[in-house]
Amino acid sequence: MKTSRRTFVARSALGVAGGITLASGRGAEPGTPTNTATRPLIVSTWPFGRAANATALKTLQSGGSLLDAVEQGIREVESSRNPSVGLSGLPNAAGVVQLDASIMFGPGHKAGSVAAIEGIRHPISAARRVMEQTPHVMLAGEGARMFALEQGLESVEIDSAARNEAWLRKRAAERAAAQHHTAGNHDTIALLVLGADGNLAGGCSTSGWAGKLPGRVGDSPIVGSGLYVDNEVGAAGATGLGENIMRYCGTFLVVELMRQGLPPQEACLEALRRMSRQDPKGTALAVSFVALDKHGRFGSASAGQAFQFAVTTTEDSRLLDSPGIGSLPVVPEGGNRNIRP
Ligand code: ASP
Repeated sequence: MKTSRRTFVARSALGVAGGITLASGRGAEPGTPTNTATRPLIVSTWPFGRAANATALKTLQSGGSLLDAVEQGIREVESSRNPSVGLSGLPNAAGVVQLDASIMFGPGHKAGSVAAIEGIRHPISAARRVMEQTPHVMLAGEGARMFALEQGLESVEIDSAARNEAWLRKRAAERAAAQHHTAGNHDTIALLVLGADGNLAGGCSTSGWAGKLPGRVGDSPIVGSGLYVDNEVGAAGATGLGENIMRYCGTFLVVELMRQGLPPQEACLEALRRMSRQDPKGTALAVSFVALDKHGRFGSASAGQAFQFAVTTTEDSRLLDSPGIGSLPVVPEGGNRNIRP
């Protein structure tokens, strides 16, 4: 039987909720401040975020730092043969998987990212190395790959010349057909952590939009678009059609709305309302946000795509349905790989 992502998600959510009862409801619902005893609080995108959260929590519990938790949590998804994250992800129009990732650390407002990187198993680790080992924030393309190799990060052989030749042969036909976004041909793991010490960190990683033009960079590696962490306020992560996030500095907007006093969920909703007011696509943006704040509140909102997010504390882990604006078409589960833009 063909299973839609929605039915899959519903079953997963039931499994989690059925197995674990939230401790007195503390930190359980979006917008509800967590008791400090329930920190760390980990929030991430999509059902695959549950595994990422579990690894992030385990990392913290075995003495790892906030950044270790973000990196290890995201590496979990990058390693999991996910169809839209890591080297198993969706190829571009040239048949090449080009990956985007970023990481931010609240204290010191540090950031690092890699864009359109090829053949590197863990782009999130490359992003962290950019942040920690270079004076830069973002490295792209071949330079990013060279840096990752120099740093000793795991890599696979890439034969860009052969792939490029194949691409040139197909390109004429592809030019004739306009590139259209199709729901279900992209996804991102974005993971945010509020530490027991009240500090924040976050990261994200994706193969981006299937069939994108070679060299296309999405929102994920761009600070303030796919990810934003402000240690004074909170953090936000995005998933969905990057072009609709980048034009609004989406996660920066969410964090700024939290700075003005909105709780995370209302900030996510308000950002989407504001974006959809201006956008020719209206609410059909195919954009989802997750956010948490310094007080331990969390939330999410989605426009134009059904979305679930994973929330984990030491006491509980569950998937929650994101509230949304406009209609929320179901993204087909497992349908990503073969959908062409
Ligand atoms: N935001 C990602 C991109 O456009 C893809 C996704 O999260 O669905 O590259």
